[in-house]
Amino acid sequence: MKTAVLDLALVPLILGCSAPTSTAQEPRPAAQGQDFRPIRFGDPEPLAYDAPFFPGAKYDAKVPTPDGVLGQAQGTRLSHHAELLACLRAMDAQSERLRVETFARTHEGRELVWAAISSPANLARLDAIRADMAKLYDPRGLTEAESERILAGPAVAWMGYSIHGDELSGADAAIALAYHLVAGQDRDVTELLDQLVVVIDPCLNPDGRERIIGLVEQSAGRTPNLDYASMQRGRWPYGRGNHYLFDMNRDWMAGTQPETRGRWRAVLSFHPQLFVDAHEMGSQDTFLFYPQAKPYNPNLPPTQLAWNQRYGADAAAAFDAHGWAYYTREWADAWGPFYSDAWAALTGATGILYEQAATYGSPLQRESGTILTYREAVHHQLTASWANLGTLRANRAQALSDYLANARRNVAADTPGNERLFVLRPGPNRRREQDFLRSLLDQGIAVERATAEFTAANAVHAEGAKADSVVFPAGSYLIAARQPARAQVRAFLDFDPRYDKEALQAEREELEQKGRSKAYDVTSWSLAHAFDLDASWCDALEVPRVAVGAPDLAPRPAPPEALATPVPVGWLVDGTDDDALSFAARALEAGLAVHWADEAFHAAGRAFARGSFLVRRGENTGTPEEIWQRVRAAALASGVEVVPAPTGRAPDEDSADLGGQHFRLLARPRVALLSNAPVSTDAYGHLWHHLDTRVGVPFSILDAQQLGSYDLRRYNVLVLPPSDGLREVLAEAKDELAAWIESGGTLIACADSAAALTKGRLGLSQVALRQDALEDLASYAKAVERERGARAVVVDEALVWDGPPPKKDEPAAEGADEKEKEKEKKKDDEPAKVLPEDDARARLFSPQGVTLRGLVDPLSWITSGSDDVMPVMVSGSDVFLSKEPVRTAVRLAPASELRLAGLLWPEARARLADGAWLTVERKGHGEIVLFAGAPAFRGYHEASARLFANAVVLGPGLGADQPIGW
Ligand SMILES: [Zn+2]
Repeated sequence: MKTAVLDLALVPLILGCSAPTSTAQEPRPAAQGQDFRPIRFGDPEPLAYDAPFFPGAKYDAKVPTPDGVLGQAQGTRLSHHAELLACLRAMDAQSERLRVETFARTHEGRELVWAAISSPANLARLDAIRADMAKLYDPRGLTEAESERILAGPAVAWMGYSIHGDELSGADAAIALAYHLVAGQDRDVTELLDQLVVVIDPCLNPDGRERIIGLVEQSAGRTPNLDYASMQRGRWPYGRGNHYLFDMNRDWMAGTQPETRGRWRAVLSFHPQLFVDAHEMGSQDTFLFYPQAKPYNPNLPPTQLAWNQRYGADAAAAFDAHGWAYYTREWADAWGPFYSDAWAALTGATGILYEQAATYGSPLQRESGTILTYREAVHHQLTASWANLGTLRANRAQALSDYLANARRNVAADTPGNERLFVLRPGPNRRREQDFLRSLLDQGIAVERATAEFTAANAVHAEGAKADSVVFPAGSYLIAARQPARAQVRAFLDFDPRYDKEALQAEREELEQKGRSKAYDVTSWSLAHAFDLDASWCDALEVPRVAVGAPDLAPRPAPPEALATPVPVGWLVDGTDDDALSFAARALEAGLAVHWADEAFHAAGRAFARGSFLVRRGENTGTPEEIWQRVRAAALASGVEVVPAPTGRAPDEDSADLGGQHFRLLARPRVALLSNAPVSTDAYGHLWHHLDTRVGVPFSILDAQQLGSYDLRRYNVLVLPPSDGLREVLAEAKDELAAWIESGGTLIACADSAAALTKGRLGLSQVALRQDALEDLASYAKAVERERGARAVVVDEALVWDGPPPKKDEPAAEGADEKEKEKEKKKDDEPAKVLPEDDARARLFSPQGVTLRGLVDPLSWITSGSDDVMPVMVSGSDVFLSKEPVRTAVRLAPASELRLAGLLWPEARARLADGAWLTVERKGHGEIVLFAGAPAFRGYHEASARLFANAVVLGPGLGADQPIGW
């Protein structure tokens, strides 16, 4: 048996064994003719790792081996998704231990399947077992006899692989595991299958896997290369994300992607007690499994740590037997609820993640000089999985009874916190409300609706306000903590989860002593904040209510086919709903002239919000019938209600007439979105996904590496997604960009790309980063004061008509004193001088994803559809400072009321207070829009994504001037 752990000195020797020349591992291929051989992918023969996965195991010869189906020794090269499925289906055709089902499809149409493996007897009653598991998950009404029967039956393990598409070895291990379970004849296999149902989810992200395999294969050659850093292991946009480059291991709470939605349903149809999510990490690392790092999310099952220790001990023993290195607890904390394993743990399973050093399908040399082959990586994953299944099998009864005990706690009346109720007051933004409710319903969370007005106690609003008693209207949506999905409800919807004292201390020490954060991801995530919902948590037990189901969230009825009579002068769409923006984009694309209302008004017998849209009949070509059909098509595609306006005359003194200047004409957006390195793949993906699937505006994807070569005149909107390396690219194209903006372009930049444009950097924008403007802090503070003052105008009539009151006859000494005091007071008001080194130190404590209170400019066109407070996500050390003439559309709140959720150190609070989050500034005929953060973060920050979409669709008409044709 050869081993892949090779001594450095042996490598050339072994390569030399089969290769006569110093570089070629195979004989030189003939360029053409019969001798030609295609490139061979995977582990090359000389480096074959041929340790058997299960030494001495006996297999049923009638079950087709993956080796036979794949034409490789399992795990020696990357298997395509279709090959993985072919292996499973070949086994399925010959075995009674396996059932394969398709549960969803990816954006690119690939099948997502689960493969349930158990004894033939268990498999024959698989659906009954699943129904039993559902009874354990929701034990309301479960009898003692029934629970005893179920607890004596099999437990369920869900084994998931390669959710990050370029973390490849897991999926090949999944097939090897399936084969061992389906064909294995030894007692350890058959006994395990008597006691467990093993559900294998072989490839969580086929679109990402196929992308990276394509890149790896396209870069492969005939000469071996052991360099882990070579681009032969992939390039932009890599394979981590799905089609839209979403990190699907951050999507489990919001479920923005079809893979996640389908998997929610699939996992919930089994209710597993063990849930494994197998990943890969840096090539020079070893292997990581759980227990995970602290802090733990308080909503995880109380037994989670103990179970992880048990699973971890068995996995450690299995790795020790091989002498393989591994570790636990060093990173991947248990705080965020949006990961695969966290989501599953919140349903009651023990969630486990692995991380195997990545090879990308061919051998690489490690720092120690050893060689890691792909097949050995597969072997590691397989060994961890097999150990986990062994742990569950050995502790089956305990696992099931702990699962049931946890489920009983979720639905018990006396469980602390079970009196709490999440209440959503229904508002005018129906699209957003429905997206929110549907995402809860689709993951099995019960939603109800109040059938009468009710009063609730101890209310806390999403934006922080507290009240002893609040009245909610009939029709309010209710999500009770007391339900089987209790842990998810609390974890996803709590407004302000906080680190405990120990975790806070540990994080501060890490920052102070090592200059880095231990936080693995964002520290806040509440869906209520991301959707900017009018939501509260309160105590309310006796509310008359009915259950809400998906059918209750039906789309709006289609607009009537026929043109209204009398023939309208125009058509109106209320602008509050996010779908309205999609209507505007589609109507503009259909060539209609569309107007945007800069204030609220009444028409056609109802109220319309600021930001509503108007299509005037007389401004569009064609018969009234033809115009209506185009308006109708845009309404159908976007799902909005269209109201015909019988007259252009306003019904009251407070409203504008429909033909006047309050209805500003939009310009059709011609959108370009910058992609390719160095743009951040997932941040690009979030914007791409939003424009493509939510707004429906056409856009061109441009290559950042060729930015200078495009004729930018063909676009009037250019979007720069977050990217920490875009500055050089932008610097080269700076003059072209400036000229393009000045002639009417709308440049939209986000996060670090926005920072690159600021005053002290490329200087396209007048906005400055705090660290570049420490000398001017007083001037920015004064500008903020003026801006806030302008929103709370108080006129002193006497001062206007009569001038200042006469000075009182006061002793000079006292007056001088007052003046001194005033001077002192002024000094206090002025921000203290900040030295660059102090600011540099304060930046160390910058947040890693916190939710802050954004104060919205109610007049700016870019904020239409939002109310006056918007929770915004802030990450990193860039603080944007703005003053007139820059318009600050969303400004961060003063320090005292800044934080809504997440870990915000005092240093960061002081730096971020009053900072700008969204700015709009004119430049010639064009404009620059800067978002301090990523507005469509992870596809579910719908409130800030609306502002991004506003910028794209409304910007060319409202923030910039387009030439008038003649
Ligand atoms: Zn991963």
